Amino acid sequence: MRKFTEDTLVLATHNKGKIHEFEGLLAPYIGAFSSSLELGLTEPEETGSTFAENAIIKALSAANESGKPALADDSGLAVYALNGDPGIYSARWAGPEKDFDMAMEKIHTMMGDTDDRRAAFVAVLALAWPDGHTETFEGRAEGTIIWPPRGDAGFGYDPFFLPDGHDKTFAEMTREEKQGISHRANAFKKLQSELFA
Ligand code: IMP
Repeated sequence: MRKFTEDTLVLATHNKGKIHEFEGLLAPYIGAFSSSLELGLTEPEETGSTFAENAIIKALSAANESGKPALADDSGLAVYALNGDPGIYSARWAGPEKDFDMAMEKIHTMMGDTDDRRAAFVAVLALAWPDGHTETFEGRAEGTIIWPPRGDAGFGYDPFFLPDGHDKTFAEMTREEKQGISHRANAFKKLQSELFA
């Protein structure tokens, strides 16, 4: 495992919400941030077949173009009874309108009355250096799919995901409650303890 010893990091995303979240979590360790958005870097096509492959594609592309280490993430919902779908296609299943009510309905219909209601949110963070070296960190949140969906907070598939050991869906939790147990938070914990320790 290569440690992170540089003092600047490129956040390989054009999403302002993610830039903000990354900066908040990494500010104690890193002197200066820039982002693909700020530097006008290209957004590569996500042609991988796993979360890790897609996160690496995004991180490597930003590291190559900027000449600095770069961090990217890829995430989604994996439903066990659907062999891990929608998985890396989680955003795409909601269509161009980003209609997650429709996407949740589709998953609910596809699951039918199967007994196996298990699902996991998965997030993979990839850090790439300009010399081509990469490290990845995976975080998961295990739970079950419930119907009907509940709650208005959060985003995406949050309303029909009940994390194990809790009686509130992700969309019924406060931001702090969700951040305490989320897949992204778990991936960050690994990154922090392995990269900066
Ligand atoms: P990404 O931006 O390529 O990582 O796409 C992630 C997609 O996965 C999002 O558009 C959501 O559909 C879904 N997703 C990832 N994390 C969450 C979450 O915490 N709650 C709900 N949906 C999520």
